[in-house]
Amino acid sequence: MDIIFRPIHELSEALRSGDISSVELTEAFLRRIKDVDGRIHAYITVMEDDALRMAEKADERLRKKDAISPLTGIPVSLKDIFCTVNTKTTCASRILEDFVPPYDATVVRRLKDAGAVILGKTNMDEFAMGSSTENSAFFTTLNPWDLGRVPGGSSGGSASAVCACECTASIGTDTGGSIRQPASFCGVVGLKPTYGRVSRYGMVAFASSLDQAGPITRNVTDSAIVLSVIAGHDPKDATSIDAPVPDYTSFLKKDIKGLRIGIPMEYFIEGMDREVEEYVRKAVDLLKESGGEVVDVSLPHTEYAISVYYLVATAEASSNLARYDGVKYGLRVKGRGDLIDMYKETRDRGFGSEVKRRIMLGTYSLSAGYYDAYYRKASQVRTLIRRDFEEAFRRCDVIVTPTSPTPPFRVGERVEDPLTMYLSDVFTISCNLAGIPGISIPCGFTRDGLPVGLQILGRPLDEGTILRVAYTYEQATEWHRRYPDLGERPS
Ligand code: GLN
Repeated sequence: MDIIFRPIHELSEALRSGDISSVELTEAFLRRIKDVDGRIHAYITVMEDDALRMAEKADERLRKKDAISPLTGIPVSLKDIFCTVNTKTTCASRILEDFVPPYDATVVRRLKDAGAVILGKTNMDEFAMGSSTENSAFFTTLNPWDLGRVPGGSSGGSASAVCACECTASIGTDTGGSIRQPASFCGVVGLKPTYGRVSRYGMVAFASSLDQAGPITRNVTDSAIVLSVIAGHDPKDATSIDAPVPDYTSFLKKDIKGLRIGIPMEYFIEGMDREVEEYVRKAVDLLKESGGEVVDVSLPHTEYAISVYYLVATAEASSNLARYDGVKYGLRVKGRGDLIDMYKETRDRGFGSEVKRRIMLGTYSLSAGYYDAYYRKASQVRTLIRRDFEEAFRRCDVIVTPTSPTPPFRVGERVEDPLTMYLSDVFTISCNLAGIPGISIPCGFTRDGLPVGLQILGRPLDEGTILRVAYTYEQATEWHRRYPDLGERPS
């Protein structure tokens, strides 16, 4: 079997025993990117020379048996939202098109310290605003299962790169579903950790009270491995949680006997795709057969989640994006007049239309006279949504839902209709508002061959339990062994 298809835990063994070298492995992935990325368009930047240099260093560590981690020598990619020293970090925006950060994000630092090899930076919706990567200022990434469809977003480049085996794993970010929804659309595993579990330092800010980084991988074990490396307290991020990081792979050994699986009635709604519902119900049955105890729960404020999110997220975005003024860094368009003119021209040319829409919405809801009616109200309802989960988690240990109400949609199908696009986040958004962890794993393929995702939500800092449930399901199914046909498949 070609090495690019193998899971991280196997590759890590092979690297340690000297069966393969990190340089060989990295070259294999760089070749794969050359072979398929012309069709998928997952990468904005491929860091060929840097990757090979990191691989050489990793090989040296492996030879000397010096501080080896499960990621030493393993090639991964990063959503282009993470600052990388000396490598462009564009956030898929014209305004940061030529921005080269002077420092690494903490997530990047941790990966490098663990000896991981960074292959490149992946495409996304501009500033992580979107659900399809169609809002990238550069190009749209395509779904490896069907090149006429979107890979989801905003971490669509990461999910499709993992799916097409253009890296072993990728780090995405999730503000309202941007790790889980693309993972679901691409048939891979995406984990959004508890808010504060992973440092946001050096991650370009969209909505700071919601943003969280996490792994996108091809299986649950790899998700646990990557999370163990990137999680942890960081003094440079005041909202990062100071709690010990367990070895998340240790949770995979336990079964789920007696574990209470909550099914929220508000998540099985009118208008949901039939095949999606079928597969999710089958998955719940399987968890029951594996020893789980299924209980009905209610999250009564779910219907307000989208409205709350699009008020809170846009308000925070309008404030965060005020820094792009052409003065300190990024694009500067001089304009014909004074300083104000320069600001205007820079922001007009630098931002795409979805980003502008969000800035305007956010500015509106924060302005005097509207603040109480919109932003404050939304913050209050957000508290109710969080309490819904606290209440539900008294009756169950995890909550299981579909990740997305539909399978991946066609390129162009929803771009003209932002409201429909926003509605695709209906199942993923509450988790961010409540700050709890959630994972999406593949749980079926439609008759058209499109992946369906299962979402498992857990209590704050209980990533271990959602990984354990995900792993139990994965062990009993074969979905994670399917690969899209890109000319070469594992033998
Ligand atoms: N699709 C949602 C949005 O457009 C979520 C994005 C995200 O999680 N970054 O805001």
